Amino acid sequence: MTRAAYAVIDLKALRHNYQKACQAAPSSRVMAVIKADAYGHGMLSVAQALEQADAFAVAFVNEAVTLREAGIRCPIVVLQGLRNPQELLSAEHHRLDLVLHHPDQLKLLQTSNSKNTLRVWLKVDTGMHRLGWSPSELNNAYHAVIRLSAIVGRPALMTHLACADDRGDVYTQRQLERFNAATAGLPGECSVANSAAILGFPQTHADWIRPGIMLYGSSPFIGESASSLDLRPVMTLKAPLIAIRQHAQGDAIGYGGGFVCPEDMPIGIAAIGYGDGYPRHAPNGTPVLINGQRAPLAGRVSMDMITIDLRGIKRPRLGDEVILWGQGLSVDEVAHRAGTISYELLCAARAVRHKVIEG
Ligand SMILES: *Cc1c(COP(=O)(O)O)cnc(C)c1O
Repeated sequence: MTRAAYAVIDLKALRHNYQKACQAAPSSRVMAVIKADAYGHGMLSVAQALEQADAFAVAFVNEAVTLREAGIRCPIVVLQGLRNPQELLSAEHHRLDLVLHHPDQLKLLQTSNSKNTLRVWLKVDTGMHRLGWSPSELNNAYHAVIRLSAIVGRPALMTHLACADDRGDVYTQRQLERFNAATAGLPGECSVANSAAILGFPQTHADWIRPGIMLYGSSPFIGESASSLDLRPVMTLKAPLIAIRQHAQGDAIGYGGGFVCPEDMPIGIAAIGYGDGYPRHAPNGTPVLINGQRAPLAGRVSMDMITIDLRGIKRPRLGDEVILWGQGLSVDEVAHRAGTISYELLCAARAVRHKVIEG
């Protein structure tokens, strides 16, 4: 099944953004976060392009296995850790680094007969209240881990921040203080910072940073553009214009008649819709780019099509390339219009064809 829409993946932009993370935290090692198929960009091509990364992070064991089977040799951290005995065997076989956030995962590791095969990251819940050991449980978990024969070296320690996307939020500092208090006296490498904290809270950098969204060229901050942070878009989502039709004043366009022509005007149809991951919630007025010029959506997003107000476009032609986001139009702007965040849009576009370029 070949759909018309496709995404250009610019590996030069990816490497540029990676360098930005390194420059922001020059004393830290980098765990590049490539979960959810590298936020929709293609996990393998991203991992291969970032061969200088000190480690990769994925959500699931099977993602890490895919990377190993493709020849990725550096440490791979499994952020959700183990779910069952089969995954333990895979993790041992492929020498994966496991986040340990739950007592049942500790019990599973206690069944292992292997010696010195696995690295463990203990996840501390400092206020995100999703995964992790509470500060009061951490000490016992740590000492249980160092007794495991399967473990290599010391456990490392990590936490995840809930509000770092707002530079002014004091909650980040409170989480950091809880982390420092909980881990005081427990030797091991530490990691706290996601993209927002890498750029906004240098005191969180610690031994390892964990950039995700910034690698892909989107802003981790509310109300701050990616270009102002010198981040470059990696994915440019494109689709062709497949029809141009002249409508009369009063004509209603698309499902529910969601746009009514205020005058006689041309409407363009592009071959992309929510079936490709373009957000159905994008309202009238959401911009697209045609030949470098902005044009607004006019009418509801369909499964395979969108309808565009072409009044401002000079000489549009069939086959013209429509850019939905990426080069020249930030995914952050489209996400904001659609009432969501870039992460969701990028992940949703993972199903489209990719054209990987070196830039
Ligand atoms: C996804 C994730 C990250 C990366 O977050 P960004 O906001 O994309 O930089 C870092 N750490 C953990 C634990 C994550 O799950």
